[in-house]
Amino acid sequence: MPAMNIVYEYQNNLYVNLTNRCTNKCKFCIRFTPSGVDNIDLWLEHEPSTKEVISALEEKNFKEYDEVIFCGYGEPMLQYEVLIDAAKYIKENSDLKVRINTNGHANRAAGKDITPLLKGLVDCISISLNAENAQKYNDICVCDYGEEGFYEMLDFAKKASKYVDEVVLSVVDVIGKEEIEACRKIAEETGVEFRVREYSE
Ligand code: SF4
Repeated sequence: MPAMNIVYEYQNNLYVNLTNRCTNKCKFCIRFTPSGVDNIDLWLEHEPSTKEVISALEEKNFKEYDEVIFCGYGEPMLQYEVLIDAAKYIKENSDLKVRINTNGHANRAAGKDITPLLKGLVDCISISLNAENAQKYNDICVCDYGEEGFYEMLDFAKKASKYVDEVVLSVVDVIGKEEIEACRKIAEETGVEFRVREYSE
């Protein structure tokens, strides 16, 4: 079986890859490009267990980094039990910051509110807002839940902000000034931070 890139280094941080699955099929998703990130093959042969994630972290000497980020290939919170257990291990064994990059559909996918589990284990959650309304969101993200995916994501952000210090809704700068301002207002109304990310191909 080929080695899987469960944990990889990128721009001096450590990234954890838990799944290929996602509840979106965003038109810009790196899963649909053959080279992955920086030519690192991120396609997983199987979804890693907590034990596999911990041994991959140890192999990378994770304590030497500043931050561990649970992100992709797919949507990391679809594997939320493994993520929580791995975050617990990181927090018990280091002072590292733990961040999750997510589409915010975890509660809908799990069929329950899982945000209380994040308390004390996750320092930052960055959620892709992507668009100013549900229709535009679904046009870009082609969500399994249709336009409801937009509202699920906002509800998740609001709930997560009770347990996580830094919750951020983010957009990329290519959407234009007017839509960026509309998205900023949504973040304010949701009671979370807002960030504009630079678009990179
Ligand atoms: S939410 Fe992320 S992983 Fe899922 S399709 Fe969109 S870009 Fe890809």
